Amino acid sequence: MTQPFPVQNPMGLLIGGEWVPAQSGQTLASHNPATGEHLVDFARGEAEDVDRAVAAARAAFESGPWPHFSPTERQALLLRLADLVEANAEQLAMLDTLDMGSPIRHTRGSVAMLTDLLRYYAGMARGIEGITATPSNPALFACTVREPVGVCAAIIPWNGPLWASILKLGPVLATGCTLVLKPAEDASLSPLMLGKLALEAGVPPGVFNIVTGLGTEAGAALAAHPGIDKIAFTGSDTTGRAIMAAAAGTLKRISLELGGKSPNIIFADADLDKAARMAVVAAFANSGQVCSAGTRLFVERPIADDFAAAVARHAGALRIGNGLEPATDLGPLVSARQLARVSGYMEEALREGAGAVCGGARLEDGAFGQGFFFPPTVLSGAADAMRAVREEIFGPILAVLPFDSEEEVVARANATPFGLGAGIWTGNVGRAHRLGRALRAGSVWVNCYNAIDPAMPSGGVKASGMGREYGKAHLDEHLETKSIWIATD
Ligand code: ADP
Repeated sequence: MTQPFPVQNPMGLLIGGEWVPAQSGQTLASHNPATGEHLVDFARGEAEDVDRAVAAARAAFESGPWPHFSPTERQALLLRLADLVEANAEQLAMLDTLDMGSPIRHTRGSVAMLTDLLRYYAGMARGIEGITATPSNPALFACTVREPVGVCAAIIPWNGPLWASILKLGPVLATGCTLVLKPAEDASLSPLMLGKLALEAGVPPGVFNIVTGLGTEAGAALAAHPGIDKIAFTGSDTTGRAIMAAAAGTLKRISLELGGKSPNIIFADADLDKAARMAVVAAFANSGQVCSAGTRLFVERPIADDFAAAVARHAGALRIGNGLEPATDLGPLVSARQLARVSGYMEEALREGAGAVCGGARLEDGAFGQGFFFPPTVLSGAADAMRAVREEIFGPILAVLPFDSEEEVVARANATPFGLGAGIWTGNVGRAHRLGRALRAGSVWVNCYNAIDPAMPSGGVKASGMGREYGKAHLDEHLETKSIWIATD
């Protein structure tokens, strides 16, 4: 299916308010993962481009209009950007669908939530406050002021490109920082369009810079750059470790959101019909390419087989196809590399003795053969020790894992290096509270999954990362606290 493509070819880097090619003149290609068709080329930024972008971000942080923007003006700017995102919602949704495959219904829904998120940050721009202490020495007055951290870098993944860009840009604009954003090489188009809208909204030159390119080139250069004060990364734990090591050299502030292997726990006393429907959403939304996907489905043993069959039935009803079709529930995986990775985990699980209640292999018939489609897959007979049950697959595969007691399931759910999200389905309110506290995760959802709100912090514990996004906690990541003492005698 061909759609008019709303961007220029090739797309440049956004540095200091100007669209410029990479200094090397090189580009990378973007492809539609549903059809394999070539979409557009974009600049392959490298270390020298990162240098230029960081210099522009530093200049904008220290001089020009931006340091003098009042909270009211930063709020107004964020509100204008929200209006522009809303006015261009269809193009933004289409760009993500074309670029990384997510169904148009899903990307349209995301844009609506993102305008709300921008308006939340607009409000937060007015709520930055310090404290007034009461020193024991009466000759001293003491207070704190909050100041922007400085030049921020953000390196984002491909599973929600517009989402991740707005989540990184919102608190930067609310606090008065500046940003150099490195989108993922598999999905750079909507972040670039956000750059265009930011300029239209009146974001001053250099406040928001975008360097597209490869992780090992532009990304690595940003992580190691001495001109960056803070770096935020969302992606795999392996890359997170590399970024943390690179950031250590210049003692940057760092926040990491690194995915997980989240447990979703079903007790027999739950509303099982709702739990089965939502287990499908928890694991398979965005074709499983969600950091907090509930991929370890623990089910009380007496109901485990029936529950697995119900999940497979709901999964089987999902319509898989090109994300541009309005009826599509599940699109393709983002790339051939991701398809190979997901298929590799699947084959290993089968070799180790697991079985597929549904799904299990790439879809290749007809039009599916041109894209990277993998069906929702429910594994039975899987063991906690299997690689497909221990490691983040980032594809539509969940494992049904029967359990016998509350104590046992808490221990098994926590026996993972990760700790991003966890789901509990039960009709027992005491158990909901007990497990809500006992599970080691940044977010716990009871009788729901992946609930989200701009005011609620989100992030991981253990190998799922550090720092929080959304909410007041997210602003704090972008603010320094300065203590001011005044002798009054
Ligand atoms: P994936 O392997 O699925 O691409 P990653 O976590 O590696 O997931 O990628 C997320 C983001 O991290 C992308 O923007 C990518 O370009 C970037 N990235 C990858 N490797 C590095 C690296 N060594 N340093 C900095 N950024 C990187």
